[in-house]
Amino acid sequence: MDNANQGKHIDKKSTFTFDCHPGVSCFTDCCKDVDMTLYPYDIIRLRKRLNISSEQFLNQHTEMEFDDNFWFPRLVLKMSDNEDFSCPFLSASGCTVYDDRPFSCRSYPLARSVKRSCSKERQSEKYYLVCHDHCKGHQESKTWKISEWIEQNNLHDYNEMNASWISVDTLLKSYPFDQKGMNMTLFRLLITASYNLDNFRLLLNDEGLSKKFDIPHELKTKAKTCDITLMELGFAFIRHCLTGEPISYNNNDLFFK
Ligand code: SF4
Ligand code: SF4
Repeated sequence: MDNANQGKHIDKKSTFTFDCHPGVSCFTDCCKDVDMTLYPYDIIRLRKRLNISSEQFLNQHTEMEFDDNFWFPRLVLKMSDNEDFSCPFLSASGCTVYDDRPFSCRSYPLARSVKRSCSKERQSEKYYLVCHDHCKGHQESKTWKISEWIEQNNLHDYNEMNASWISVDTLLKSYPFDQKGMNMTLFRLLITASYNLDNFRLLLNDEGLSKKFDIPHELKTKAKTCDITLMELGFAFIRHCLTGEPISYNNNDLFFK
């Protein structure tokens, strides 16, 4: 892929011109040989869309990259093994998972930069206009406000879910382990609670584990059928493992403050 101009900060009131449709000469060029981070909410949406388990999804479609965090990886989408290294969800007519495409695909050409914090309330966001050299969408005349782009691409949900993840990921980046450090059992547990949520749901059936980590019964029950609750419980579980912060459940709201 070519270089992207990531330096153009745009404030929330300004507008930009862009459009992407099958008529652009570069249609689907950006779906090939791309380094795409997948966030936990991306995986929830995609594995549901594909009707496979999170375990299958991780095995078939992801790779671990230890780049900006030496002890905890990010997950990236595995490209196909063809000559274009195209996205596995790309067809001749475009994206086959469009309504559930990952955050990075739906956000482009906007990039959302978040000032990291373990607390969601202390995170602050800025938007940048990303311009890849090959992308002709910037030559189209359709004008957007940032709020319109967010609305059009259903980014609210993704921003909210990713904010929860950023608070946990920020904690993971700070190496919050005791003197024993990270071991393989803890590593597997944290990966499961972050990304392999079907297996995490199975783990919750273990009464011993629920007791050990003092997981409220009501929360466990809700997590059996609600993927979002399960994901937030996974994040709370990670925080508990790393800091001892109790897993609490008030007024049906587990989202971190
Ligand atoms: S998920 Fe869809 S939009 Fe994103 S790279 Fe793959 S084919 Fe393209
Ligand atoms: S390169 Fe740009 S205009 Fe072309 S398909 Fe991708 S996002 Fe759309």
